[in-house]
Amino acid sequence: MINIAIDGPTGSGKGALADGLAEKFNFIHLDTGAIFRGFAYGILNSGYSDPTKEEIEKILPSLNLKVKFEEGKQKIILNNDDITKWLRAEQISKLSSKISVYPIIREKFLEIVQEFASCNNCIIDGRDITSVVLPNADYKLFLMASEEVRAKRRYEENLSKNISCTYEEVLANLKERDYRDSHREIAPLKVVSDATVVDNSELSIKQTVDLCYNLIVEKLKNKGEK
Ligand code: C5P
Repeated sequence: MINIAIDGPTGSGKGALADGLAEKFNFIHLDTGAIFRGFAYGILNSGYSDPTKEEIEKILPSLNLKVKFEEGKQKIILNNDDITKWLRAEQISKLSSKISVYPIIREKFLEIVQEFASCNNCIIDGRDITSVVLPNADYKLFLMASEEVRAKRRYEENLSKNISCTYEEVLANLKERDYRDSHREIAPLKVVSDATVVDNSELSIKQTVDLCYNLIVEKLKNKGEK
């Protein structure tokens, strides 16, 4: 199987890049943030908006989370319900980042993603894909963009999805998540030595996709795989 790993901070455009690459390569794009969001949704719905480690450990066994693909679209199924459309709210964004520091959550996550990668040609994006989940991925990308550019993108994305928020709220939330994601003890967001770093602050999605596609094709050609 060919696995392409993409990491980067919130709003760096990993999702759009992964979608574009998945289309060009005809691979599946797995958005791993949605898995943490799914767990956050389940925990919130169990009545915990600010859960402790013990509360998470208590609730987690009752959350049966699965990732499914229907007509190429990723769905998160929690206890047989499709919860995908509820996962982009700012409250879920915040809670997903908070719970992602706990080992029990990261273990479940690792199981789901590694199993998926072992049987699919895929593009996987997240925070620890290049470092922990797929250290032997065929290609590793670290995508970044300035804080302001990323907050503006996330703000516009929210508006287009009718999610109410202010730019200031999104920027503050993004800074808080960036800090937590890169300072946590387990699987922090970091640039690994064999990742290619792409700053797309000044690039369109198409330019970013084309640039990364060419880099990947070149490397796979050299490996004799494409
Ligand atoms: O990428 P997205 O914003 O949807 O991710 C939601 C949260 O899940 C992130 O803020 C991050 O804390 C966590 N996450 C993670 N590891 C990943 C993907 C996401 O810790 N591989």
